[in-house]
Amino acid sequence: MRGETPLRLAPWSLDADLDDDGFRAALRGWLAPAYARFAAAWPGGPRPRDLDFRRAWEDALCASGWSGLGWPEAYGGRALPLSRQAIFHEEHARCGAPLGVNLIGHGILAPTLLHFGSEAQKRRFLPGILSNREIWCQGYSEPGAGSDLAAVRTRAEPVPNGYLLNGHKIWTSFADRARWCFVLARTDPQAPRHRGLSFLLVDMHSAGVRVEPIRQITGEAEFCEVFFEDVRVTGDCLLGEENQGWKIAMAAASFERGTYFIPRLVRFAQELRQVRDLARRPDAHGRVPASSEAVRHQWARLAADSHVLALKSRRALGAAMRGDPPGPEGSSTKIHWSEAHQRLLELSMQMLGEAACLGESEMDEQTANLAHAYLWSRAETILAGTSEIQRSIIAEQLLGLPKG
Ligand SMILES: Cc1cc2nc3c(=O)[nH]c(=O)nc-3n(C[C@H](O)[C@H](O)[C@H](O)COP(=O)(O)OP(=O)(O)OC[C@H]3O[C@@H](n4cnc5c(N)ncnc54)[C@H](O)[C@@H]3O)c2cc1C
Repeated sequence: MRGETPLRLAPWSLDADLDDDGFRAALRGWLAPAYARFAAAWPGGPRPRDLDFRRAWEDALCASGWSGLGWPEAYGGRALPLSRQAIFHEEHARCGAPLGVNLIGHGILAPTLLHFGSEAQKRRFLPGILSNREIWCQGYSEPGAGSDLAAVRTRAEPVPNGYLLNGHKIWTSFADRARWCFVLARTDPQAPRHRGLSFLLVDMHSAGVRVEPIRQITGEAEFCEVFFEDVRVTGDCLLGEENQGWKIAMAAASFERGTYFIPRLVRFAQELRQVRDLARRPDAHGRVPASSEAVRHQWARLAADSHVLALKSRRALGAAMRGDPPGPEGSSTKIHWSEAHQRLLELSMQMLGEAACLGESEMDEQTANLAHAYLWSRAETILAGTSEIQRSIIAEQLLGLPKG
C-alpha cells in the first residue's frame, strides 16, 4: 500500500487565538472525522494493527501539517507548547487512530537532533522526519547488552573520513522499514564502559547492513536483528562528540517523558470500557461475568489504576512543562502502566474465553484487537527498561534503599 495513501487529508491550519479548550474542540472536530474517512477508504476496511495502514495514516497526518508539533518553525515545525502537543496525542488516541511506525524518528531522534545536532545535520535529517519519508530505528540493544546497555560491543573503529562499523544489534523495532538507524557503538575500547561510546547515524542502505526480522508471539515481525559488517559511516554522521554517546543516549530517552504515556492511557481507558461491556454479556453458558464478585473486584481495581495513571501522567506533563529534570517517578508510572495493562488484558481474555483462541479470521474485530493486545502486552514489562530495572531505580533513587 506504500505510496497509495487512499485519502489525503485537508491541511489543517491553526488558529493562534484559541485557548486550550478551544484548540481541543477544534482539533477533535477535524481529527475524528478525518480519521474515520481515512479508515473507511482503506481497501478492505480499517486495519489499525497493520503496519502499512499505520504508516499510511502517519504519512497523511504529516502531509496535512500534523508533524514537528514541538519543533521550531525554522525547521518546518509548529512550535506548539507541550500542553498543546499533549492535547494532540490525547485526541489522536481518543479517535481510535493507531500509533505510527516512525515513533522513534518523531519522538526520540528529532528532539535529540534539535538538541545535539549540528546545523548541517538538522538540515539533512529533519525534513525526512517531518514528511515521514525517512523512518528511523534505534540500534542500542545487543545480545549481551540490554538492561546493561553500557556493555555495548558493536565497534566503530575510527578510519579516515569516518568509522568502520562492526557488530550485532537485536530487538531493533521497525529496522526492516527504516532508512536510518541511530546506533550506540564503541569508539574507544580502552575507555571506561560509559565513556567509550559514540552516537552514530547509520544509513540502513549502506553496504554491509543486514536486517533479519524476528517473528513474535503475535505473528508479526516488527522488530529485527541487525548485523553491521564493515559498514562505512562518514564522519558527518557522528552526533555530538566522539565518545559522548552515553550522555546523548540518556538525554534521548528523556525527551518524550511528558507525552509518552498519553496515548497508552487513553487506550487503557478504552479497553477498560470494552472489558466492562464484555463482563455484562452472558457467556456461552448463560453466565454473566459481571455477577461474579471476583470479576467486579478486578475491574474496580483496574478502574482505580486507570484514574491514578491519568493523574501520574498529568503530573509528569506538568513537571516536563516546568522544565524539571526527569526523575525516578517515571519508573513508577512505567511499572504501574505495564503491569496493570497486562492484568487488564488477562481479564479480557477471561471474558472472551475460547473465542480468543480462534484464528484471527474467525474473530470479530474487537476480539481480534484484544487478543492481539494481550499477546503484545507481554513485551510491555520488558521494553524501555524491564520491571526489575525500574524497581531497582525506585528502590535506590526514590526510597533511598542501599544497593543490593
Ligand atoms: C517490543 C520491544 C521493542 C524493543 N525495541 C527496541 C529498539 O527499537 N531498539 C533497541 O535498542 N532495543 C529495543 N528493545 C530491547 C529492550 O530495550 C530490551 O529488551 C531491554 O532493555 C531488556 O534487555 P534484554 O532483553 O537484553 O534483557 P536482559 O537485560 O538480559 O534481562 C533479562 C532478565 O534479567 C533481568 N535483569 C537484568 N539485569 C538485572 C539487574 N541488574 N537486576 C535485576 N534484574 C535484572 C531483567 O529484568 C530481565 O527479566 C525492545 C524490546 C521489546 C520487548
